[in-house]
Amino acid sequence: MLPRIAVGAIEHETCGFAIRNNAPSELTLADFTRVYREGPEFDTLGDANTIVDGFVRGVRQAKMELVPLLWANAITGPPIRRADFEVVVERLLDRLRAALPVDGVLLSLHGSFAAQDFDDADGEILRRVRSVVGSDTPLIAVHDLHCNLTQLMAEAADALVVERTYPHVDMAERAVHAAELMAATVRAKVHPRMAFRSLPILWSAACMIDAEPPMSDLVAKLREIDARPRVVSASVGVGYQWIDNPTVGASVVVVVDGDHELAESYAEELGQWIWQRRQWWCREPLSPSAAISQGESLGKFPIILAEQGDNTGGGASGDATEILRLFMQSRLTPSAVLYMVDPDVALQAVEAGVGNMVQVHLGGKSQPMVGPPVEMLARVRAISHGRFVYEGPMWAGVVGELGPTAWLEQDGVHVVVVSERHQPMDLALCRSLGLDCSQLRYICVKSTGHFRSGFGPIAGSIFNVDTASSLSHDFRRLPYSRLGRKMFPLHDNEVW
Ligand SMILES: [Zn+2]
Repeated sequence: MLPRIAVGAIEHETCGFAIRNNAPSELTLADFTRVYREGPEFDTLGDANTIVDGFVRGVRQAKMELVPLLWANAITGPPIRRADFEVVVERLLDRLRAALPVDGVLLSLHGSFAAQDFDDADGEILRRVRSVVGSDTPLIAVHDLHCNLTQLMAEAADALVVERTYPHVDMAERAVHAAELMAATVRAKVHPRMAFRSLPILWSAACMIDAEPPMSDLVAKLREIDARPRVVSASVGVGYQWIDNPTVGASVVVVVDGDHELAESYAEELGQWIWQRRQWWCREPLSPSAAISQGESLGKFPIILAEQGDNTGGGASGDATEILRLFMQSRLTPSAVLYMVDPDVALQAVEAGVGNMVQVHLGGKSQPMVGPPVEMLARVRAISHGRFVYEGPMWAGVVGELGPTAWLEQDGVHVVVVSERHQPMDLALCRSLGLDCSQLRYICVKSTGHFRSGFGPIAGSIFNVDTASSLSHDFRRLPYSRLGRKMFPLHDNEVW
């Protein structure tokens, strides 16, 4: 008989500073339908670059039986209400109870999920799954690189595996790794022993890009540890800095075959390696105009401004107007802002129709901090329903649904206006509208790192810039109230 492996996912990155356009400051069950699949709906999975697809592929490749639970995913936003958290989690547990006995459980959990009453919602999920399957059934979870791993999570699971890339192009790869570890565990070839360390570091996003130093040095260190005898998995989580609760921070996990003390010594070594280099992971803020000057002196176009503070993927509103205003006032053309979240203007443009002029007050509607709306008399260059397929590599094959969408232009300044909050990860949506990004000189993407998946190959130069917006990377400016411990670089503590 093949080993029966339950596979499930409840994925949410929770932003303590999230601002949602015209919406309450909490999530509900309905938000967990960005992706929602149950049971037989897993049958068609296995090909896309997601963690769940990687689980499905890995379980099949290792000749194990897939026991599908559910996959619920919500876009980054505020904490979910307690009652709705209970519905989602209990639905997963009900399916698990109905499937018993199982030989192992693989879960995709973001790793920085908070619910009303649970700062560490992922830890609570792992704790409940453990209580259903008992202490002898292997339980392995895979997390986003931006996870805030906790002691509760490490105690509940046999192994925690974290992505290593930003943009997260290794989602399926890390999930396959977890499935292979599961296969070796259920066949008693490996006995995972895990050690965990939490590091009080607020890591700057610009220092998480694995293609460049210093992050490439850290990935090399992980590979060196991977190669040591008996090591079966090594991971680092860089944290999600906008959750504003005591779970926030970087973390280290090392899993060794059958030797807990060895796992502890490697985790300590890796933790110290990161901590001693803590200055590496922090970067001073950069203004858009300073970035433009640097890019022009390099002469490498298009200059891409990654507006990390208004990254919709990170929970921001996506309607900050500072860079659009800069492009227009300084006549920086041809240029584009991708994407401005403004459902009213998108609808206005759709109603006006392609080729016609519209007078709009664009963006700047979520909160005063993001700047006032920009007045434009723009031509509608294209409109769409905002449905497209990501080209990848990150999210290759995943369907995007951005709602009514319009491409507007005024005097060489282009804006793609969307209705739903999503960050630009590749060129697919622009291409579907007919906008060729490679012909632009200046591009603002409301994204921190994932845009590199598709925009990296066309970029002349890339700058992560800071604007007034809800996901500021100037940590001193964020209204933290619940950190619960001293965090570098807010505090220069000597120990961790
Ligand atoms: Zn992430």
